[in-house]
Amino acid sequence: MYDVIIIGSGPAGLVSAMYTARLRLKSLVLQDLNLPSQILFTEKIENFPGFPESITPAELLDRFKKQAQNFGASFSKEKVIKIEKEKNFWKIKTDKGNYQTISIIVASGAHPKRLKVEGEDEFLGRGVSFCAVCDAPFFKNKEIVVVGGGDTAVEETLYLAKFAKKITLIHRRSSLRATKILQERLFSLPQLKIEWNSVLKKIEGKDRVEKVKIVNIQTQEEKEIACQGVFIFVGIVPNTDFLKDIVALDENGFVIVDKKMKTDQEGIFACGDCTDISLRQVVVASGCAAIASISAKEYIEKVYRESKRNRI
Ligand code: NAP
Repeated sequence: MYDVIIIGSGPAGLVSAMYTARLRLKSLVLQDLNLPSQILFTEKIENFPGFPESITPAELLDRFKKQAQNFGASFSKEKVIKIEKEKNFWKIKTDKGNYQTISIIVASGAHPKRLKVEGEDEFLGRGVSFCAVCDAPFFKNKEIVVVGGGDTAVEETLYLAKFAKKITLIHRRSSLRATKILQERLFSLPQLKIEWNSVLKKIEGKDRVEKVKIVNIQTQEEKEIACQGVFIFVGIVPNTDFLKDIVALDENGFVIVDKKMKTDQEGIFACGDCTDISLRQVVVASGCAAIASISAKEYIEKVYRESKRNRI
């Protein structure tokens, strides 16, 4: 029986593990290798306190993990299939086995949202990508298209600009959602063209991407852009399918949490990008993880007190 099982091994999961293990709670982190942390899609993190020179996401995660392990947290690579309530504890079924735990911290993160346009699935890995850091070197001196106007789209475009000779950013509005400092850097890119008020309609090619069709949603004018790569960054979808019918989710599938990171189920807490918080940043995920861990500890102590009382 674990005190706490943490589902997810991005910043929220690892900081939770660091906190719960340091609180001397028997802690296990379940890592689903098919759901990599969103921060691994970025080149460097320059807004996490304490790293004025910035830090790579892999190194930051590694440091978080070591810190958690130093305090005694265990890790296992398993995908959660099902969660069930049993008396005053929870049963977790994974693709490798079954666990019992008094509490759960869900830190399962999110994955990139799909545009659902023709050619997106067909050319995935053959020109279509959701990760600049992974695929940018394949587009050295090539022409590419980027879709989206948030922090991710702009950060990834900045990275792609080190390789691509021409970048067309397609955004559905006339202003970007991304942070101003990122916008400033974006607008200074010499090889950038922005198609405002436009959406991607179709991705075309023979074996690989050769062009895209876009439409200006104000003028209805259609355009073809020749390109070898299409990078899509139009938001995120929470990894919460396994939680349906267990905890309350909002209309987009994000876990609804209160100020103490409690879900609507006693003993289940959540933090990070899978929750309905308004700001999705490593520093926020880390802070929420600390709160979730303390809430889990209070809950575990209550369960122990009650079971002791019942035995007497
Ligand atoms: P986001 O902030 O939700 O932005 C998504 C972008 O895609 C928006 O510009 C949106 O347009 C556009 N979009 C959404 N659906 C679309 C569709 N069907 N067709 C065309 N365009 C569409 O998502 P994100 O950029 O992935 O960021 C996710 C979270 O992580 C945010 O909270 C962000 O601040 C955070 N983040 C932070 C950092 C950092 O701090 N360095 C880096 C990356 C991400 P509209 O603007 O019109 O809605």
